Amino acid sequence: MSDKRDYYEVLGVSKTATAQEIKSAFRKLAKKYHPDLNKDDPTAADKFKEVQEAYEVLSDDAKRSRYDKFGHAGVSGNASAGGGFGGFGSSYGFDASDIDLGDIFDSFFGGGFSSGFSTKSSSSNRKRNGTDLLKKINITFQEAIYGCEKDLDLDVVEVCNTCSGEGGINPKTCNKCHGSGTITTEQHTILGSFLSKTTCPECHGSGKIYEKRCPDCHGDGQTTKHKTITVNVPAGISTGDRLRLAKKGAAGSNGGEPGDLYLEFYVGEHKYFKRENDDIYLDVPINITEAILGCKKEIPTLYGSVKLNIPAGTNSGDIQRIRGKGVDNKVKHSKGNMYITIKVITPKHLNRDQKKLIEALAKTDLDDAEINEFRDFIIENY
Ligand SMILES: [Zn+2]
Ligand SMILES: [Zn+2]
Repeated sequence: MSDKRDYYEVLGVSKTATAQEIKSAFRKLAKKYHPDLNKDDPTAADKFKEVQEAYEVLSDDAKRSRYDKFGHAGVSGNASAGGGFGGFGSSYGFDASDIDLGDIFDSFFGGGFSSGFSTKSSSSNRKRNGTDLLKKINITFQEAIYGCEKDLDLDVVEVCNTCSGEGGINPKTCNKCHGSGTITTEQHTILGSFLSKTTCPECHGSGKIYEKRCPDCHGDGQTTKHKTITVNVPAGISTGDRLRLAKKGAAGSNGGEPGDLYLEFYVGEHKYFKRENDDIYLDVPINITEAILGCKKEIPTLYGSVKLNIPAGTNSGDIQRIRGKGVDNKVKHSKGNMYITIKVITPKHLNRDQKKLIEALAKTDLDDAEINEFRDFIIENY
């Protein structure tokens, strides 16, 4: 049997007292019996503790109802469990009588301390954003030029359905802080004692505790799902370009946001088209008579074909520009040009008739100024 006094009696309130009545009774008695103010009365410290203990129980709805049903036995387990009444020993840092505890809290802390982060805690309750991730994506030359849709298999972080991101199931007001999210402790320094408000370690500042941790997200409030998402790759992307997918990176913890996912592109090559920035280079082979006589050639471009006039007397290596037929870059909002390099193909296998024609041609004077100058250079110097 407990030899403790009835808690209602200790505070001098009725069994039906409101929370406000209990609070104000406690304030009065806490000041009355405060050991610092009662240095001559050796029993004051014990009375002060008794008042604190009574208040600790009666100010907590759950404890109060257990106490009402079972008396001291209903709350004694909690009292000895370490958290409760233990460390509260001697002195509050206020001096005389009329100061309201609430005033002290407010003037010390201005209400501006930050609250913690709900239930979303596992090992540490610090909210932490996920890291950014980088994923390399191979795309073909054409996909880069025209843009494309790419399906990516990703692990995507989503708000947990089971607990709607709360991290727990069946929320209740936190017993330790009574829903305020903060607890007040006393600190002693050489300058005196003062009260310090800290985030409640039980509920991490949310003021709520949950009957059980969410089984699906284990309290994180978010789950990672394997998903296929479709990404629109804009026309004109080049190797090394990156696209950012917001919040598709690694999961955060304790309610932190996921990081971003960066896609880095690697563009394949084309058999004929060569790309340099937004310019496109194309070698166009022509035969020897086309080079001599000139011709019109159909040139494939990235955006349909164009007719190109190749003048008579074109040499291998001559370059022609086709304006605006390079890459129509939707990323940079610019357009490149196309450069055509003529490659004159000298025939290796002639039939007899062709050979005769060429031999007849060879007997004519085909040399032009450039050839003559080079021959003179050899004759003069060697
Ligand atoms: Zn709490
Ligand atoms: Zn959940």
